[in-house]
Amino acid sequence: MKILVVGSGGREHALAWKLAQSERIQMVYVAPGNGGTARDIRLVNVELSDPEQLAEFVQREGIALTVVGPETPLAAGIVNLFRGRGLKIFGPTKEAAQLESSKDFAKAFMQRHGIPTATYQTFSDVAQAHAYIDANGAPIVIKADGLAAGKGVVVAMTLEEAHQAVDHMLADNRFGDAGARIVIEEFLAGEEASFIVMCDGKNILPLATSQDHKRLKDADEGPNTGGMGAYSPAPIVTPAMHARVMREIINPTINGMAKDGITFTGFLYAGLMIDDKGNPRTLEFNCRMGDPETQPIMARLKSDLVLVMEHAVNGTLDTVELEWDRRTAVGVVLAAAGYPDDPRKGDVIDGIPAETPECVTFHAGTRQLDGKLVTNGGRVLCVVGLGDSVKMAQKQAYETVDKIHFNGAQFRRDIGWRGLKH
Ligand code: AMP
Repeated sequence: MKILVVGSGGREHALAWKLAQSERIQMVYVAPGNGGTARDIRLVNVELSDPEQLAEFVQREGIALTVVGPETPLAAGIVNLFRGRGLKIFGPTKEAAQLESSKDFAKAFMQRHGIPTATYQTFSDVAQAHAYIDANGAPIVIKADGLAAGKGVVVAMTLEEAHQAVDHMLADNRFGDAGARIVIEEFLAGEEASFIVMCDGKNILPLATSQDHKRLKDADEGPNTGGMGAYSPAPIVTPAMHARVMREIINPTINGMAKDGITFTGFLYAGLMIDDKGNPRTLEFNCRMGDPETQPIMARLKSDLVLVMEHAVNGTLDTVELEWDRRTAVGVVLAAAGYPDDPRKGDVIDGIPAETPECVTFHAGTRQLDGKLVTNGGRVLCVVGLGDSVKMAQKQAYETVDKIHFNGAQFRRDIGWRGLKH
């Protein structure tokens, strides 16, 4: 069968790489893909991103199933459009994607259904937002309501930062419509974890747990980024914690959506903050897989992802039991010079070694130019190493990282440090 993966990042390369391993696959298309998916002989890039044109392509090529990586096409209604044409697609509808596309929607939803999260209030009025900050003090968290490519959250440690964030979003309109409303919420302390499940509208299938590293620099310093690395599993999510998150967060979310008249299909990602007493709260929902979490998760998945996807679009995920590599996977992101503010493009990339059973390099912001591979975005590569411990997985990943070269490459040396601590 033929499958289409929509997107161009490291997440989509990892999904396509895993799908292509299935014996049942004739072809995996990636739209628009990147330099890595272009190089892989089992994958074919398609220069399309408009949902309408993608649907026509799928019909023309007889593609059996489409998997959507990023949030933007989901929030724009690509699933509604495909289903309207009788095409099989895995992802949430536009209505369900509001869990990610509107922070205000997600917060009101959690409050209504008793799902643990930070206390909050939503504002569109600048003066009222400033007054709320003065009344509540710092630290405090300011979030643009709409999609802002991971840049719409300011964790303000001081009142000054908090007021400035309000001015940027509400007064200066830095995020356009996405920041016309803001959520201001309580600062939560603790350890984060990424909890991702697949949902077919009735059944929920949890994936392996993981942990992202949002800050640019070692020891969680420097600015926030889209994610500088991730590892799986996350030891903080013990079996007892897993059961609790399913009971208190995941099940009430899927059931709550159903009660509100919205059937949730697709990947549901709950970003958790687990406090020092071991209580999990929801920082955010994403209605797709995480990037870079997908890369180590896919590196550990042993089951046939094509089969899993078929069950997911046919409503039979209850018959699936996922099999995972027992090893730890550590994924290290190599980012371009200037990332995150102003990533430089066009640096030549050398030295990516061939994939081994212990290490695979997924591409994100790369492209082929005159026979060379060059940087083409903020996050360039994600090198995933596998090992029997976090330390051994780190060793595998960093041995490869040290062989790769492009000018100005930025990466962290400590991906997985929380796992070492546990
Ligand atoms: P979000 O997009 O909502 O997940 O926010 C991005 C990042 O900001 C999260 O991964 C956290 O590191 C941080 N963050 C978000 N909300 C809070 C909060 N209420 N308290 C502390 N940190 C937060």
